[in-house]
Amino acid sequence: MAVSGLPPYDEHNIFARILRGEIPNKTVYEDEWALAFHDIAPQAPVHVLVIPKRPYCSFADFSAHASDAEIAGFTRAVGHVARTLGLESAGYRLLANMGANAGQEVPHFHMHLFAGRPLGPMLNRPG
Ligand code: 5GP
Repeated sequence: MAVSGLPPYDEHNIFARILRGEIPNKTVYEDEWALAFHDIAPQAPVHVLVIPKRPYCSFADFSAHASDAEIAGFTRAVGHVARTLGLESAGYRLLANMGANAGQEVPHFHMHLFAGRPLGPMLNRPG
């Protein structure tokens, strides 16, 4: 789905291929709305990606075009993963990169879930 200022959704992006089963993943959780799997290059002891099942480039795209049921389902899936991985007491970080300034590599909206150690400051401070 095209969003003003963004290219149309790329059906060949790596997460689209994972959703089609063309590339394997280490699934943590899956339901009607979302797939959660371990990041291939983890940046924390726990680094899980949660992606909506339907094609959205960004949070702006997702929030504008997903149905209420989809938004609720995706949000609940993120919470379910955090709870079932037992992260509530020690804490965790959710992060979503959008576009060039955030360094988004994969143009399918996704939430990173980091945990398992103190995660440091929220942003790298420019040198
Ligand atoms: P972004 O920079 O777009 O927010 O994050 C993309 C993430 O996807 C990165 O953390 C990267 O390691 C992860 N990633 C890229 N390709 C694959 C893959 O084929 N499998 C899995 N599980 N993760 C991937």
